[in-house]
Amino acid sequence: MTTRMTTRSDLERFTNAPPLPDIEQLSRWANEFFTELPSGESPHFVQPAVSHSVTEAITDISPSSGHAKVPLSFSVPHESGLHELAAPSRTEEPTASGTPYYFQHYANAEGLDAVPQASATHGLSGLIGDASSYGVRPESFGLPDNGELKTLAMPKTGLFGISSGSSFYFLEEAVGTGRDAAVQSLGSAHPPFDVQAVRRDFPILNEKVNGRPLVWLDNAATTQKPQIVIDRLSQFYRHENSNIHRAAHELAARSTDAYENARQIVARFINANSADEVVFVRGSTEAINLVAQSWGRANVGPGDEIIVSWLEHHANIVPWQQLCAEKGAVLRVIPVDETGQILLSEYRKLLNDKTKLVAFTQVSNALGTITPAQEIIELAHRVGAKVLLDGAQSISHIKVDVQALDCDWFVFSGHKIYGPTGIGILYGKPEVLEAMPPWQGGGNMIEDVTFEKTVYQPAPARFEAGTGNIADAVGLGAALEYVQKIGIDNIARYEHELLAYATELLSRIPGLRLIGTAREKTSVLSFVLKGLSTADIGTALNKEGIAVRSGHHCAQPILRRFGLESTVRPSLAFYNTYAEIDWLVTVVRKIQCGKIS
Ligand code: PLP
Repeated sequence: MTTRMTTRSDLERFTNAPPLPDIEQLSRWANEFFTELPSGESPHFVQPAVSHSVTEAITDISPSSGHAKVPLSFSVPHESGLHELAAPSRTEEPTASGTPYYFQHYANAEGLDAVPQASATHGLSGLIGDASSYGVRPESFGLPDNGELKTLAMPKTGLFGISSGSSFYFLEEAVGTGRDAAVQSLGSAHPPFDVQAVRRDFPILNEKVNGRPLVWLDNAATTQKPQIVIDRLSQFYRHENSNIHRAAHELAARSTDAYENARQIVARFINANSADEVVFVRGSTEAINLVAQSWGRANVGPGDEIIVSWLEHHANIVPWQQLCAEKGAVLRVIPVDETGQILLSEYRKLLNDKTKLVAFTQVSNALGTITPAQEIIELAHRVGAKVLLDGAQSISHIKVDVQALDCDWFVFSGHKIYGPTGIGILYGKPEVLEAMPPWQGGGNMIEDVTFEKTVYQPAPARFEAGTGNIADAVGLGAALEYVQKIGIDNIARYEHELLAYATELLSRIPGLRLIGTAREKTSVLSFVLKGLSTADIGTALNKEGIAVRSGHHCAQPILRRFGLESTVRPSLAFYNTYAEIDWLVTVVRKIQCGKIS
């Protein structure tokens, strides 16, 4: 068995080499730089590898690279030395073109200035991504040619920095979606994103499911919680728990402070002008119902029109339907194009002086489409309509600035952004909230009560009748601070590259149809696979530890727009890795071949 560490002088020879552009160039380089297997050395087979993802990354290389390659060995650093992970033998994995073995070293990032850029093949970038899931960087890639083992790609100093510890979020990243991403990152100002550091914050990601590492790709349904949120909830119940606003004792003061501090954090996160514009509710669904019942009942009448888009979650359809039925108003729907993007020209035609409200999503939960929110809001305001923006799917992926958007209401759920379930936000412009009647009556929302008359509190207390979800509001505050620390722009950038990578890999699978291919998208990959039910695919993926949603995603109209009742929906978060995408793709291929059912 041969594993040879590439030396620093090897690295230096490549310091000034240009990025690797294509397979021919790679081959030329391969002829120039090579590492020989010692004669008579016959590598032995030690598969399966320690990690399924390494193995599957190997599989990924073979079909996509244009070279028939078989990995010879994989190593990761272990304490002081390299540790062998996997080494398929010549005999067990013969390939079409003679003896094209694939030779691989991973070097400890501590001692390495750089990694090769993604090289010309997709598979390689997948492999690099996979290596990064071990906290290591690939050091060299080799491909034997005519019986000799040649170096295929070498580290290029300066392309990526050095990982010097585990506690940073933005050190260096393996690669993006290939050469272009690597080259871009060379010249860009932002520090790359360290997904491994982030993953360590989420204890549940260490779970095993059916003996496999959990791959959580159901983030559009709900996100996992970082330790800091779990700890904050525990701290609240250990040291602060009390009802709020209504007592003179110490714990009431602590819990009130914690709750109101969380409101301030939310306000800052969405750039509201004041914490008074932030109402705590149970989630997006409750926030939308609150607006429908309070503002809607007071302001919508017979013949008035409410516009929603075809992309909406049921939570942003049903409350408006109910209101229209009660008031004799009309629900209008903005159609979408074949990619799943809103047709602005059709939207313009729907707007008129009867339009009282436009309620739409910033990101589609079923397709991932990012809608042109700013433009939609501006057009609605021109006809005097109010706008409710559903941020349930946007809040964790893209920057939200309610003042810049100029929406009248913005809603989101805490559990979609690494916070607890049962807590969510209704933001409202102050003049809009002030003009809204209360929705529910009870304690906390009143200033004075007699049997003749009740004087209500101003917003936000007016909309928070009864004892709210105090601890989870505090937990949401911790989640938002956590996201802020990582930086929503860093998250968006990383997730965007991961989405592009996953989209490309999935779209190469014959018979797989991606639903939702808008140019502006985030985090969702809805698909169907010819000949297989979505439920069966979901079940089969679960057998390999992969959690995805399969079904109608509470958005039946948009799926029916594409002639479907259900899709399989992997959805991404910033703790997902390239290796997980590789594994997803591999398992989908296996399901397709009937190797998993
Ligand atoms: N809106 C969208 C776009 C959603 O994706 C969801 C949930 O998936 C909701 C609203 C409802 O959110 P919740 O169930 O947290 O109230």
